[in-house]
Amino acid sequence: MDAMEKSLLLFKDADLEKDGGAIAEKGDTAPPKLPVSYVTAGNRKVPVLKTLLTSACERDCAYCPFRAGRDGRRITFKPEEFATFADEMHRHRIVEGVFLSSGIAGGSIATQDRLLTTATLLRKKHEFKGYLHLKLMPGAEKDQILQAMTLADRVSVNLEAPGESYLHRLAPHKQFWDELLRTLQTAEEIRRNVDPRDYGRSRWPSITTQFVIGAAGEKDRDLLLWSEKLLKDLRLSRVYFSPFRPIPKTPLADLPAEAPERAVRLYRAFFLLRDYGFSADELPLTPNGQLPSGDPKELWAKLHLAESPVEVNTASREELLRIPGIGPKRAAILMAARRQSRLSDVQQLRSLGMPVDKMSPYILLDGKSPVRQLRLFT
Ligand code: SF4
Repeated sequence: MDAMEKSLLLFKDADLEKDGGAIAEKGDTAPPKLPVSYVTAGNRKVPVLKTLLTSACERDCAYCPFRAGRDGRRITFKPEEFATFADEMHRHRIVEGVFLSSGIAGGSIATQDRLLTTATLLRKKHEFKGYLHLKLMPGAEKDQILQAMTLADRVSVNLEAPGESYLHRLAPHKQFWDELLRTLQTAEEIRRNVDPRDYGRSRWPSITTQFVIGAAGEKDRDLLLWSEKLLKDLRLSRVYFSPFRPIPKTPLADLPAEAPERAVRLYRAFFLLRDYGFSADELPLTPNGQLPSGDPKELWAKLHLAESPVEVNTASREELLRIPGIGPKRAAILMAARRQSRLSDVQQLRSLGMPVDKMSPYILLDGKSPVRQLRLFT
């Protein structure tokens, strides 16, 4: 089997995970797709070769199609084989980057070494200049984490669940504090204490994590409190929320799939924490700790701004960011515009590209609510 075939089959097996299907059995002949996924880099979607070095794994995470003991094919790349293949995909402009993880075989340390060997071949021998996201294995050693950070643009460890007790339901042999969180902490310690220029880099990679949602009974409150902590303490760039999908022949096969809308609500709330100055305890939650349906920022505004609207001409950036429809770019536009002239009319807001209907119930223009103006003109 050549590297393209391996990659397509691995991609297909991992894709089936998302679709709630089974790991492919030997003899499965369904036509595979190109092994290309998309990741967000800056403001762009970048095509990447997203795969595992091996789908053989000695761990038994209850949600995973590659868990130990589950029937199905296992595919393994040798480091040089993968590096050559990834470099060719990049040279032919099929992908702009690589997202490389691995099942754990022979322990986390040996697995991390194989990932590092592969990444080193890719960067040094093949002179690969594209985007590289490297997974850190649970409990990787500090020197391994440092080496990964000299090679990658992004490193990540999936925490999987917001705390030890939830994790135990998903992955009974992963240790939340000692293996997963500690590995993220070590990566951040390196970013804080080591000069990247000593390793020939202008800056250290970004760090991300992922939670599986909907399989462990975790509350949105737990996920958001952890997200806030990870943003503050470890300066994570992103927390991903992956809705659970049941995989046949796993311990969680009979659980229902989690609705994708829950992930949408969590992402909206996460961005409020990361980019809008909200804290987790300000976000509106139901009595049982879940985000209600609807936009969390609009729900917050109905509770807090409907009675005390924001004067657009004098509000701070932080106050502007609390208005529904106003993000960092629109806040900057409003602040620049009001330096030129006072904002007193909804037409001025419209000409600046503002979502007037959405923001009007929560603002004042020169001391007056624009809601009345809107009623007059519609
Ligand atoms: S360690 Fe990773 S590959 Fe192995 S069973 Fe768990 S989630 Fe799957």
